[in-house]
Amino acid sequence: NQDEEKLTEYMDELEFLAFTAGATVQKRFTQKLTQPDSKTFIGSGKALEIKEYVKENEIGTVIFDDELSPSQLKNLEREMEVKILDRTNLILDIFAQRAQTSYARTQVELAQYQYLLPRLTRMWTHLERQKGGIGMRGPGETEIETDRRIIRDRITLLKDKLKTIDKQMATQRNNRGKVVRAALVGYTNVGKSTLMNSLSKSEVFAENKLFATLDTTVRKVVIGNLPFLLTDTVGFIRKLPTQLVESFKSTLDEVREADLLIHVVDISHESFEDHIESVNHVLMEINAHQKPMIMVFNKIDDFSYEKKDDDDLTPSTKKNVSLEEWKKTWMAKSKYPTVFISALKKENFPEMKKLIYDEVMKIHISRFPYND
Ligand code: GDP
Repeated sequence: NQDEEKLTEYMDELEFLAFTAGATVQKRFTQKLTQPDSKTFIGSGKALEIKEYVKENEIGTVIFDDELSPSQLKNLEREMEVKILDRTNLILDIFAQRAQTSYARTQVELAQYQYLLPRLTRMWTHLERQKGGIGMRGPGETEIETDRRIIRDRITLLKDKLKTIDKQMATQRNNRGKVVRAALVGYTNVGKSTLMNSLSKSEVFAENKLFATLDTTVRKVVIGNLPFLLTDTVGFIRKLPTQLVESFKSTLDEVREADLLIHVVDISHESFEDHIESVNHVLMEINAHQKPMIMVFNKIDDFSYEKKDDDDLTPSTKKNVSLEEWKKTWMAKSKYPTVFISALKKENFPEMKKLIYDEVMKIHISRFPYND
């Protein structure tokens, strides 16, 4: 039954992603397989079931929660006669819509071409079919080769462009001198921008969608006369496409080069423990897991708790653990300073600020040991 709960959470998240990209979801399909089908990812019976539903209800797109191989995509599209998106494609689409600076746009474009390159043949079969089933003769391999070359050249160009901006950004970071730098990290939509806003009194875009934050913003924050720089970074997400991890290198450099990480967690979300793991996983990947960290559990105002009756014999679920119990658990097991807040209602801000102040001060003192 825990598997089923997980599955619902994953599908909820996928639906939220689809909503962020601008789609409305009509129906969910799931299938249990010990191993995905190498040719079509799902079984043929399930594919047929979806195909019929799509036809009957005039559905435009079918979205898969995993990354499909180029041939799986091609086979599924052919079999179900509908546009297929996989998770990577969907996430890339959202990033493309939301990229605001030229840097972010370049990063997304690069990731999109890297995704497209091995899937190029699919577009051709597609076009051929539209032209009336000329079959495999069509425009032929040479044109696909030409297209591949154009895309490869474009990828090289974009990488060069990014390298140049990376250098500029590295210089900018160096110029920030010895001021302590803290970076907000956390799963997407946990409240990083909101916290940034209330700490720096600036207006950073915050909304209830996934990846509202694409570009990093840096703000000067002062707590008790102690100034430091605070960076808001892109939200991490489960199964972040590898193309993105690669091309958002510089965004992640802000994290890698930070002196202190402020890990924001949405305690009102049922899968918050999974989210913590996903974030720690990315931190490992970029080799930033050994930095000083503060755990900030956010959205305590939105925490819901279903109290169990004493004679209720059904096993405990996450839902009937109270906030107090979570606090006790995490205070005991976290090796980092930990605090529970509401960024929206500014609850427990003095306590959080004290923690941040202490950590920043420690780093500051280690840097300027002879100052008073
Ligand atoms: P980010 O993606 O981590 O930067 O998250 P945002 O700051 O954009 O916040 C995502 C959503 O959560 C927004 O709708 C916020 O208003 C909401 N939010 C942020 N902090 C809190 C909080 O403490 N309590 C509640 N109830 N909602 C919050």
